[in-house]
Amino acid sequence: MYLKRVEMRGFKSFADKTVVEFREGVTCVVGPNGSGKSNITDAVRWVLGEQRVKTLRGNKMEDVIFNGTKHRKSLGLAEVKLTFDNTSQFFPLDYEEITVVRRVHRSGESEYFINQLPCRLKDVRELFMDTGIGREGYSIIGQGRIDEILSNNKDERRLLFEEAAGIIKYKSRKQESQKKLKATNENLLRIQDILSEIE
Ligand code: ATP
Repeated sequence: MYLKRVEMRGFKSFADKTVVEFREGVTCVVGPNGSGKSNITDAVRWVLGEQRVKTLRGNKMEDVIFNGTKHRKSLGLAEVKLTFDNTSQFFPLDYEEITVVRRVHRSGESEYFINQLPCRLKDVRELFMDTGIGREGYSIIGQGRIDEILSNNKDERRLLFEEAAGIIKYKSRKQESQKKLKATNENLLRIQDILSEIE
């Protein structure tokens, strides 16, 4: 599995459709200050489900949409598409390529697609959970992250190992099930109250 391609349209400084192809091995992106190198990693993080605008170096989610220049009007939509090679069936889907798309409209409406099928943010997060690629993964090491990993408290460091060990998915499902159990127990209590009133 590897990231083959990033396609951006209307995302930050990439107003027109821009395609960055990655080959197997090392790829370097070079360019002058402010030319958009970090915007490419922001685009990747964004599709992986990043919701924290600060991590995306903005103040509000709308800031990821091309906001115009002296010579060009702002746009109403940002779209980023990531294409992963899946010939090794790394992702449990029967496709040789996996494409994940995220779109946001200036109205605030968001859309997600996995292999062209509309889905929820939760589905995107689950697809990447425990792969090391996801939002909390270690596939993107930003400036300062190494220090953070070395100096963070042990609970935060533990999260990194849990992601590598592939157990985050189960922990998150356990939490969801516990929430449902709690809600069911509360409903049962309410039913018992009603029953005792009727009796
Ligand atoms: P450096 O080498 O200094 O880290 P860089 O190549 O990583 O720079 P980025 O930080 O990716 O550059 O890009 C910054 C540029 O992106 C700035 O010129 C900024 O104006 C532009 N930019 C950011 N958000 C938007 C947006 N929503 N619309 C238009 N341009 C944007």
